Amino acid sequence: MAEETIFSKIIRREIPADILYQDELVTAFRDISPQAPTHVLIVPNHLIPTVNDVKASDEKALGRMVTVAAKLAEEAGIAKDGYRLIMNCNQHAGQEVFHIHMHLVGGEPLGPLLAKKQSV
Ligand code: AMP
Repeated sequence: MAEETIFSKIIRREIPADILYQDELVTAFRDISPQAPTHVLIVPNHLIPTVNDVKASDEKALGRMVTVAAKLAEEAGIAKDGYRLIMNCNQHAGQEVFHIHMHLVGGEPLGPLLAKKQSV
């Protein structure tokens, strides 16, 4: 059984977070350490540790993550200029929280897709 993360507590509103959207499938809240003027995390309400663990039965929630991202981008006023949606998987991508999440980042030019590789 996968271990819950802090995101499950946010989804259940057991700890504070700036929740922008919630429905029966997904929750969206502001990242605690924003990397751009808009930085929101969109997560499925049920625990999926990594993208490697996604099943066909999760497709509805994952589709909702994208439609909610687009809605929140529109509300934030960044839809026309553009934004980036990011999902990190495991060590090489630097995944820190093992409950899948989509980063919605924007509000300024974001530069190249990948930061210069750091030596590991
Ligand atoms: P990742 O590296 O893709 O796993 O991203 C994890 C993200 O979760 C980071 O951007 C963190 O700043 C963010 N984060 C961690 N804890 C919290 C929290 N309690 N509330 C909001 N965002 C968080």
